[in-house]
Amino acid sequence: MSDGDQCDVAIVGGGVIGCAAARALTPAYDVTLFERDALASGATARAAGEITMTPSYTDVPSIAEHAMAFFREYDGTTSFEFTELDSLELVPPSVKETARRRVDRLSSEGFDVSFLEPDDVERQYPRFDLESYAGAVRHVDTGFLDPYTLATSLAADAEADGARLQTRTPVDDLVVEDGQVVGVETATGTVYADHVVVAAGWHTPTLLGDHLELPVRPYRTQVVVLEPDEPMAESFPMGWIPGEHIYFRPESNGDLLVGGWSFAEDDPVGASTDADGEFVEHVADLVPSFLRTFDEAGLSGDWAGIDAATPDTKPIVDAPANAPDGLVVATGFHGRGVMTAPVAAALVRALITGEDAPFPTRPFELDRFDDRSRDFEFVSISDGSDSH
Ligand SMILES: Cc1cc2nc3c(=O)[nH]c(=O)nc-3n(C[C@H](O)[C@H](O)[C@H](O)COP(=O)(O)OP(=O)(O)OC[C@H]3O[C@@H](n4cnc5c(N)ncnc54)[C@H](O)[C@@H]3O)c2cc1C
Repeated sequence: MSDGDQCDVAIVGGGVIGCAAARALTPAYDVTLFERDALASGATARAAGEITMTPSYTDVPSIAEHAMAFFREYDGTTSFEFTELDSLELVPPSVKETARRRVDRLSSEGFDVSFLEPDDVERQYPRFDLESYAGAVRHVDTGFLDPYTLATSLAADAEADGARLQTRTPVDDLVVEDGQVVGVETATGTVYADHVVVAAGWHTPTLLGDHLELPVRPYRTQVVVLEPDEPMAESFPMGWIPGEHIYFRPESNGDLLVGGWSFAEDDPVGASTDADGEFVEHVADLVPSFLRTFDEAGLSGDWAGIDAATPDTKPIVDAPANAPDGLVVATGFHGRGVMTAPVAAALVRALITGEDAPFPTRPFELDRFDDRSRDFEFVSISDGSDSH
């Protein structure tokens, strides 16, 4: 686009959230998406692809249901695939009773969760060796996908419906007149828009610095892929161990992906894109303690990436009252952006059309935070027991 061009909605950021929003808004709106680099080149490209919405949103099940319905329906369109797989949360002896009480509560609320004794787990999945554990909580309604394929498929759908995807085009600032956002400033000039959606991941608070304060800060999280002595079966479950701050899932080639160890990051630009040696060692020591045939496992890959954190680990998807009119923000996906993308896209659309979202929106509103400071204590989602 050139200086002075006009669209209905400008989207800043071509990660999974910007791409999902573009698809949700087209063809009803004339959309231009600006990505400073390549599509899906930020946190999205580094994600593990775990979908654990149901355990992550036990307080508002309709949010998880919306995401799961989308992934099931989208599975098989284009080259996108969604693999459904149960998850096991391994339970150390010290928290067995708490875990059992949680299972009873969730079951009474209608969730399909169950407590499995170690023998039950080992009978069903002989790779597990649960000598050091008191059992596992089984969650259904979980699975995995390839985040890059998801984002680029969503973007391709949006483009087919008329969206312009402007890659290698950073947005430098919003253009605001009389309290109303009227466009974005790019290196090639101003592009006017009735609405601007900022979905720029951890860059969002910096980009919006002059316009809106957001309690969002960067954090770094890591992944290691192990090649076991014998490949993992396709039916092997996903899982997580809250006390160890790790989660795991089988890869389609029989490897085991292990992620976790997330920490606030003060230098997101300079931070290493490899996993820390300490994390690799932790995984190499820990995995053979609960899975058989990993004593001689090889390391087939490792990486780290930066995502955006909020104080309560839930994202901010809102058109905040004290922001310029016409501005929608979608950031702070805190380790769950891939799985939350269908929800964020539906909410961005609702904020622009003025229609009701198909689920409660309170968990995503900015004014749930009294304090907007970025100096909050980072909480890792692997520390909780409701999801990885
Ligand atoms: C190692 C790792 C594992 C993860 N595992 C999972 C998982 O299993 N499941 C899950 O759901 N989530 C997972 N996540 C989290 C998930 O990747 C993120 O929450 C999600 O990708 C966020 O998407 P986004 O679009 O908000 O941000 P991003 O993907 O970071 O996209 C933001 C985009 O905005 C662009 N941008 C920034 N500033 C500008 C500007 N000024 N102008 C134009 N463009 C700009 C960036 O280049 C970037 O492409 C993981 C993350 C990491 C790092």
